[in-house]
Amino acid sequence: MISKIRALEVAKAAEDVVSAETALPIDPFGIARSRGIMVQAMESTKPGVSGFLIKSGDSFGIAYANRISNQGYINFTVSHELGHYFIPGHVEKLFTATSTIHSSRRGFVAPDLCEREADFFAATLLMPAALFRKATSAAGDGFPAIERLAGQCVTSITATAIRFAEFSESAVAVIVSSNDAVDFCCLSPVLQDLNGVTWMRHGDSIPGSSTTTKFNRDPQNIANGVQKEGCSMLDEWLEGAPRIEMKEDVVGLGHYGKTLTVLFTDAEIESENPDEEDSFDRWQCWDKRR
Ligand SMILES: [Zn+2]
Repeated sequence: MISKIRALEVAKAAEDVVSAETALPIDPFGIARSRGIMVQAMESTKPGVSGFLIKSGDSFGIAYANRISNQGYINFTVSHELGHYFIPGHVEKLFTATSTIHSSRRGFVAPDLCEREADFFAATLLMPAALFRKATSAAGDGFPAIERLAGQCVTSITATAIRFAEFSESAVAVIVSSNDAVDFCCLSPVLQDLNGVTWMRHGDSIPGSSTTTKFNRDPQNIANGVQKEGCSMLDEWLEGAPRIEMKEDVVGLGHYGKTLTVLFTDAEIESENPDEEDSFDRWQCWDKRR
């Protein structure tokens, strides 16, 4: 688990790099170039490996797997490798005199702490707090908001959805699932602040009555990126949550084999810890992914 202090350090490392940026999207290729880091596409023979950071003496290079065709995912991969370059301690940890190439595994499965820190760095770099908060407040709600933000930031739907939950000022839960089981779940601060709410964990079942469960019965929905709208009760998803009807947007994530669910509502949910710093657990969304 990433400690709170470490999470702040990782976020600061990313925010420092983009502190002069005034508009989205952030261009990780330009950032690499400005530091003299060469970036190129490369054939990857190892399954699941999306990118590499290569060290040669004092010089660095980044490669990303050329089978990746989605620009959002390429940007995330390059930013992840930049994370290893910029996060304090990573270069020392990942490279030795004899080991000069670090290969990064595709996100959402990485149990390694350095990998999770680099993913958190990448999300912060491409969707920096001030610019992303402003964009989020103008984006609307549900999946259309996430799609709009992903277009604005040139980021993947999944990474944008997590960041959207982190910054949304209303009640939002983002759940990524496969085979009717939760991969990971991310709650907006309003839901995080509710006392006694248990976060869904990896492997928890999707509620049988939900639109998501019906959606997943047809694998074509997932493969073809179909979108459905429905509704379900918050307490059926989150143990200990109040019984509130939530809108439920469901989207197939394509050949990735996963389903994205966005639960949201316009209903006012009163914060139970109004005095607490609202960024308290934000980074946990990135840390909880497995
Ligand atoms: Zn990595």
